[in-house]
Amino acid sequence: MVKSVIFTDFDGTITLQDSNDHLVDSTGIGKERRLKIFEGIIDGSKTFREAFTEMMDSVKLPYEDCIKILEKDISLDPGFKDTFNWAQENNVPIIVVSSGTAAIIRHLIGKFLGEENLDKLDIVANDIEYSDDGEWHVKYRDETGFGHDKSRTITEYKNKFEAQLKAGEERPTYFYCGDGVSDLSAAKECDLLFARAGKDLITYCKNENVPYHEFTTFADILAGMKQVLNGEKTVVQLMDN
Ligand SMILES: [Mg+2]
Repeated sequence: MVKSVIFTDFDGTITLQDSNDHLVDSTGIGKERRLKIFEGIIDGSKTFREAFTEMMDSVKLPYEDCIKILEKDISLDPGFKDTFNWAQENNVPIIVVSSGTAAIIRHLIGKFLGEENLDKLDIVANDIEYSDDGEWHVKYRDETGFGHDKSRTITEYKNKFEAQLKAGEERPTYFYCGDGVSDLSAAKECDLLFARAGKDLITYCKNENVPYHEFTTFADILAGMKQVLNGEKTVVQLMDN
């Protein structure tokens, strides 16, 4: 049985920049209008799905051209590769749960880690579909206002892991790593939340009294997970920051 599981957001967490925001800012309606649309999520007048559709539909460039821009401009968190290697060596599953699209994530992870490593982690995200005019759009994973309800995906995985427990075995420790608004409900399903310094998720956690441990790079996350797993610190101690 696995001792721990890493659930992680992709954009702005595994990567340093958000790939969808970057496409919108550089080829769609631009940063100012994107942020305006997102205010609607914060004040409750829009769902994430509505806001995300509005911003992504402003990207008119063909998908292949978008990929070229992302390949050039999006970079990997400097600590992620070591975390990935450590997870492989220690039988810790990594599950990427994203409100973005699986095709873009697969492409970028393939580039960062090598295509041969793509099947060593799970990627759960939305799809892409093409309309009759040839434009690409986001095809949402579920019917919720999130488009992809990350907490639902995490619950399914937890049930799967815990169904394999033998008598006397403890359930795994669940880690969650994120940076944004869509990570809050997901984080509540996990034992320990790592939230990226200076990003929205920290503001939401403070507002909603959700405990978290702040990280600057995945090197901090790896160090924190090791401390918990070797008994040096408890999850509660680590979330005191
Ligand atoms: Mg994110």
